[in-house]
Amino acid sequence: MNHYNKLGLGYEAHILNYAGVAEYYNRCYSGVTVMRQEIALKKLVEYVARKAALLTQRYELEDLVAPSIAPFFEKVIDKMVVTLVKRNGGLRCNLCDKGPFTKRGMYLHLIRVHSKDIEFMVHEELRKLLEAMRK
Ligand SMILES: [Zn+2]
Repeated sequence: MNHYNKLGLGYEAHILNYAGVAEYYNRCYSGVTVMRQEIALKKLVEYVARKAALLTQRYELEDLVAPSIAPFFEKVIDKMVVTLVKRNGGLRCNLCDKGPFTKRGMYLHLIRVHSKDIEFMVHEELRKLLEAMRK
């Protein structure tokens, strides 16, 4: 975890650490820390799903990841949204081709059917972003 702190990411580094290092989960013995990270990841999945469904956000991205990486991650999320949703003639799911949905319907579909897919994407993209920042 130390090299993240060197970047000056502070407390939020815990979230990034979990997202960036898969084995971290197994090595983490503090129930409290794991719970916090789970909540952070769930909120990130919700953030992506809301953006994809064109709904207003309930959280600022700066509250979910370190402020120093938030602007970069916002761009990454924009790309994820393109992968997730087709917008020609209503909202359709790009992963399983269901739809068209209302905004609310699109959001619920993503959360109910694809939250694991989104979680994986968030996880991967955060890892890549951190790797790029360490160079
Ligand atoms: Zn789908």
